[in-house]
Order: sequence, then structure tokens, then C-alpha cells
Amino acid sequence: MRIPFVAGNWKMFKTTEEARVLMSELLPGLAAIHGVEIAICPPFTSILPVAAMLEGTGIFVGAQNMHWEESGAYTGEVSPTMLAEFCKYVIIGHSERRAYFGETDQSVNRKVKAALMYGLVPILCVGETLTENEAGITQEIVNRQLREGLDGIDSVSISSIVIAYEPVWAIGTGRAASGDDANHVIKDIIRYLLGQLYSENLAQDVRIIYGGSVKASNAGEFFQHVDIDGALVGGASLKSSEFLSIVKAAAG
Ligand code: PEP
Repeated sequence: MRIPFVAGNWKMFKTTEEARVLMSELLPGLAAIHGVEIAICPPFTSILPVAAMLEGTGIFVGAQNMHWEESGAYTGEVSPTMLAEFCKYVIIGHSERRAYFGETDQSVNRKVKAALMYGLVPILCVGETLTENEAGITQEIVNRQLREGLDGIDSVSISSIVIAYEPVWAIGTGRAASGDDANHVIKDIIRYLLGQLYSENLAQDVRIIYGGSVKASNAGEFFQHVDIDGALVGGASLKSSEFLSIVKAAAG
């Protein structure tokens, strides 16, 4: 049984004060929803105050990125051990990091391994660009990102990873994939490949979520598919009523 999972990626939004305000709006509603695992992924500066507000609620904190080393001369970076003090989850390989910060399948792989080593659950993001989608090579791209991102991850660790299918053309554009198209990639490409790489049973254990312009009005379209286990929500996670409706939709 896979428990639905919804994560809010706040990206580079919210000062600590603004983060507190949003959390105060969200908390009463989120606390009343059961049957969904929830993670809030604020910017690094707000991890501490958000973690303090979430203490005892059963709602988790996630980070949006991390370095793969435990410590060292890496100015500007944050390590897995630092995050593990406050976070359960860490988003890895988000398309914005791949596009603007030079992240590659290899660096993503190092981060996935490091996250697991230090007890964090990686949310591994994969997805094709618009050009790749239009060229009909979605399967090729997603398979490469998964094979390389998961290189060296054994069958014990795979079931604790969350995979987020995030078509790049759908992120922050207001143009979401259709529920059927997202389901096709998640079920017939991603879960199928996991079956080949690991086993059919293990493939059924892995939570695979969709991300890309999910909002209150379209969330149900994704969650009606049994293979779509939840959502990674960007823009709509910054609006309390939108995020609450999405989490409720995931609860069924
Ligand atoms: C994201 O940042 O992962 C995302 C899916 O963004 P949005 O929901 O705004 O498209």
C-alpha cells in the first residue's frame, strides 16, 4: 500500500516572517486531513522556523537541494547532515536546478546516494523539455534520467525513494499535462522501468508523483489514477486555500 504524498515546493519565495504567516494559514486545515503524507519544502532560511511550527503535527519538512558531501570547503552549499537535523525529505534534480545550476544526471546521482546515506528521503525529479516532448523522445529522456539518477541504488533503498515526474514544459507555466498523459509516463514508462531495474514488486512499492502546474482545479484529474501517488506542487503551494484543496484531493 502506497500512502499518497503531497509536497509543496516554495522555491525562492517567502521570508521567515512570510513563511510563518503561510504556515499559520495552512496548519489548521492540514492537521484535519488524514491519509496523506505532507512535506513543506521552504527555502533554506525558513527551514528552521517551519520545522518548529510543524513539530508534533506529523507533517514533514523538506529541502529543495543539497550538496552530496557531509562537510567541506563548499562555500554556499548545505550538507545532508545539516538538513537531516530538520528535514525528512530533499528535492533532488529539480528541472530548475538542472537548467540554471548545471546539475547533471551524475551530480543528481551523487545527491540521491548521499541523501539515502544520511537518512533523508530523496524526491528525485525527472521530466522532458518541450522540445524533447515534441520530438517524441520523452521515454528516452526519462529512462536516461532514471537509470543514471538511480545508478548504484540497491533494491533495499529503492522503495524509500519518491520519484517526481515533472515535465519541464508544465512547470510554472500554467499548462499542466493531462491526467492521462501523466499517468502514461508514470505507469508505462517510470514504473515499468523500475520493474525492469529492480522487480515488479519493488516497482509497486515506489511512490511516483506528478508535478507541473498542479492546482486545486486540476488535482483530481491526476489523483484518480492509481499509479499517480500524489503531487509536487510549486506555485499553488504558496496559496493556502489552493494547497489545502490539493492535499484534500489526494486524501480522496
Ligand atoms: C515545481 O516547482 O516542482 C512545480 C511543479 O512548480 P509548479 O507547480 O508551479 O508548476
